[in-house]
Amino acid sequence: MSFWQNVKMGPADPILGVNEAFKKDTHDKKVLVGVGAFRDDNGKPLVLTAVRKAEELILKQNLDKEYLPIIGLDSFNKAAIRFAYGSQSAPILENRIAITQSLSGTGSLRIGAAFIERFMPKGTKVYVPKPTWGNHLSVFSDARVETCEYRYFDPKTNGLNIVGLLEDLNNAPNGSVVLLHGCAHNPTGVDPTQDQWAQILQVVKNKNLLPFFDVAYQGFASGDPVRDAYSLRLFTDAGLQVMLAQSFAKNMGLYGERIGSFSIVCATPEEKDCVLSQIKILVRPLYSSPPLNGARIAEKVLNDPELNKLWLVELKAMADRIINMRQLLRSYLENDFKSTHDWSHITNQIGMFCFTGLSPAQVDRLKDEFHIYLTRNGRISVAGVNTKNAKYIAEAFHQVTK
Ligand code: PLP
Repeated sequence: MSFWQNVKMGPADPILGVNEAFKKDTHDKKVLVGVGAFRDDNGKPLVLTAVRKAEELILKQNLDKEYLPIIGLDSFNKAAIRFAYGSQSAPILENRIAITQSLSGTGSLRIGAAFIERFMPKGTKVYVPKPTWGNHLSVFSDARVETCEYRYFDPKTNGLNIVGLLEDLNNAPNGSVVLLHGCAHNPTGVDPTQDQWAQILQVVKNKNLLPFFDVAYQGFASGDPVRDAYSLRLFTDAGLQVMLAQSFAKNMGLYGERIGSFSIVCATPEEKDCVLSQIKILVRPLYSSPPLNGARIAEKVLNDPELNKLWLVELKAMADRIINMRQLLRSYLENDFKSTHDWSHITNQIGMFCFTGLSPAQVDRLKDEFHIYLTRNGRISVAGVNTKNAKYIAEAFHQVTK
């Protein structure tokens, strides 16, 4: 008799399931627009030149492989918070940000969830947008933190339901946590405007909510990291104490290196010391200390002036490719196929993902008739679109929405 005979088969991850189905398809025109990773115009993964050069510099230094401290590489941590909050931001100048290097965005969220579970009043709920990145729900539930949804996406306009969003946050119990996608909302690609961020800030302040920013796409959305940090900096400039999960997976293309950071803005340097001591106590039994290689690379790309300059150019080129593919897709639909459907949301949305508004039945037709693979919620990764397949994708969208 096995110890595990009662373990049932779990469901496959919906996104990874799409990849599997794509791999099995032998059709020569097959297209994968499910995966959330950048692809170049030939559909290939891209390693940035700035990253390759950083790797060369690191190799030349002939460094050892000793453990990092629990909170990771100090020079990375310092650079990461400057990148997110701005080097002249009050919490940095006043030395009141507790930060730890972490296992990319997901690991950062998981530490944040554990911190909430341990240090916020029992029963504190985390409000997440509806819909949100599916893993948010699992991260919080595995940390025994309850989530609630606030209205976000409006299927009628394929845009933001700002009225519903403000109403739901207004009705949240005071002192709840609100999870905010700093930019390039996943899965919808719909971000609040600057005016709308100001309205969200007002409710967050009135209700004394704790904003937990998930910033997985800084610089990757607009091509300008300062612009993409607008929401985070608006909140910290207003004096709010935020939590931040930061990832360098997308903007540096360091996916598998698992490099990111988790930080908490505190009221004073003394409070920061206490918070940081507790972060260390949380992290130690989770994974002891974070990986070395990604931190070294990201640190070089952030701190070396030459590499940094090169990276910012490459980052903008990645963002621009996505923006151009949105335009191309829309233009094929409207100008070549004369679709009468409203496709303006394709270019109004931002970031890697586009919520097409296609129904599960239409997504099934895309797969069965056109060999185009995406998740059944109608989300496409625009990174999977290129100058060779855009017309084919547009034609298929037109056929299933006629
Ligand atoms: N948060 C959001 C909204 C994401 O879209 C992602 C990646 O898809 C992440 C966090 C975390 O990614 P990673 O753990 O690879 O940094």
